Amino acid sequence: MKGDQSTSRAMNRRLVLNLLRRNGPRSRAEIVVATGLSPATVTFVVGDLIEETVLLEGLASTGSTGRRPIPVEINYAGRLVVGLQYRVGEVRAVLTDLSTKALATLSVPVGDVSPEAYVEASALAAEDLLRHAKRERRSIIGIGVATPGTIDIAGGICRVSHRFGWRDVALAAMLAERVHAPVWIDDDTNAFALAQQLFGLGRQHRTVGALAVGVGISCAVVVDGVVHHGAIGGAGKLGHCTHDPNGPKCECGRRGCLQAFYSEPAIVDRWRGRRPRTVTRFDMLQAADAGDEHAVSVLREAGENIGRHLAVFCNIVDPEIVVVGGEAVTFGDHFLDPMRAALAQHTLSPPPPVMPDWQGDSWERGAAALATQKLFDFEAASGHIRA
Ligand SMILES: [Zn+2]
Repeated sequence: MKGDQSTSRAMNRRLVLNLLRRNGPRSRAEIVVATGLSPATVTFVVGDLIEETVLLEGLASTGSTGRRPIPVEINYAGRLVVGLQYRVGEVRAVLTDLSTKALATLSVPVGDVSPEAYVEASALAAEDLLRHAKRERRSIIGIGVATPGTIDIAGGICRVSHRFGWRDVALAAMLAERVHAPVWIDDDTNAFALAQQLFGLGRQHRTVGALAVGVGISCAVVVDGVVHHGAIGGAGKLGHCTHDPNGPKCECGRRGCLQAFYSEPAIVDRWRGRRPRTVTRFDMLQAADAGDEHAVSVLREAGENIGRHLAVFCNIVDPEIVVVGGEAVTFGDHFLDPMRAALAQHTLSPPPPVMPDWQGDSWERGAAALATQKLFDFEAASGHIRA
């Protein structure tokens, strides 16, 4: 059966781009061998991508064996992406190149939780980033937004966000209209997982689990390079698994969800006791390091219980690695070692390594990766453009 030409062209581009992304510079002849594409097709695809400034030709090295073929590589600095992470009270923003390397970062305060306020803060952030980096608007290939919630990625709609009180907000279209650029949105933990898979700790793996422990608890899974979203974008809501039905009220309105017990603010609250309201996770870490038994036991309990729920995820998904992000990563091994022990106890197969992500900006970079991914995965949902 003869395939649709535009589809096979897109697939060939993706094959070449992902080969170069994973393995670094390669000559056209090496690309032919590695991809199984014909020499003519490789010449055509590579030529197109060079013209679009997505690929560039390296330097031909001349060694004792004579002239070597000219390698081509991804021109990571050639095009730019804006990544935005929506948090309570602020939008964190980053301007990246195609490797999600941050070129400029900033934070814009948001006065209220209305979608309009977030869209306005996003537009300001994008303009400021371009000004800081002294780059032109036309170098932007798109904007990615990471926001907590259940997201319809194809429609660019936030179906539900308990954190912001949103329901059926057409966020991508609203922002695209304001900034005149394609916009992609996804759940924040999905964006974090995508960053890990594309350029982070999950780069060499096919099945990657991501666990986020911050204001909420969530997980995400990348299978064969694709983030799993589920039927309605509701996958990965680990934090809303019931831990104890008689427990405290959760932001989702139900009782006893895992995150109502062990989100980062809940963990610090447990330890705070009669200490001043102002103590933070950093004070708690310092106490745990100094041997404060209460701090150590609260972190152990949190790690163990999250680990027990994470074991269910691992038993079902069997990831090669679990990358942990979010504010609770600050607690380090006081928190992660009990989680690893719980995993070892409750997974049927040997548990995957649990690796903290120490890059503080993975979330915004993950958001940027939503747009970058459009380049590497041409079958992804299309962005929303209002020019
Ligand atoms: Zn809940």
